[in-house]
Amino acid sequence: MSETITGGCLCGAIRFETSAVPAAQLLCHCTDCQTVSGAAAYAAYVVPIDSLKVTQGEAACFDITADSGRINSRHFCPICGTRVWAMLPELGIVSVNGLALDERTHFQPTANHMPDSAPEWCQLGDLPSA
Ligand SMILES: [Zn+2]
Ligand SMILES: [Zn+2]
Repeated sequence: MSETITGGCLCGAIRFETSAVPAAQLLCHCTDCQTVSGAAAYAAYVVPIDSLKVTQGEAACFDITADSGRINSRHFCPICGTRVWAMLPELGIVSVNGLALDERTHFQPTANHMPDSAPEWCQLGDLPSA
């Protein structure tokens, strides 16, 4: 049985939920994620696009071509700026901000994504690359 996972942005304007078992839980070290967050990695809680339900508010969005060549549609709260998720329509997945989940311990990364882009001071730990 899958449970319903809820989350939202810092100001509360945007709320979302998913009941999907995550396809992956990654720490993304791409430089785009670094730029928008000021952090060494993004907590990517990856689920199928159609499993994400927006229950409140409307996210703003900025499309960019990622290093992979795919369109990455980065969604954020227009009020508080929290990055809430990034959609990769060509892959049919959405990368939800795993630390915007109400139960943030739910995010348990199992791999580093693009660790070669990580800042040299970043501790990558024992996680494999994915
Ligand atoms: Zn907000
Ligand atoms: Zn990234």
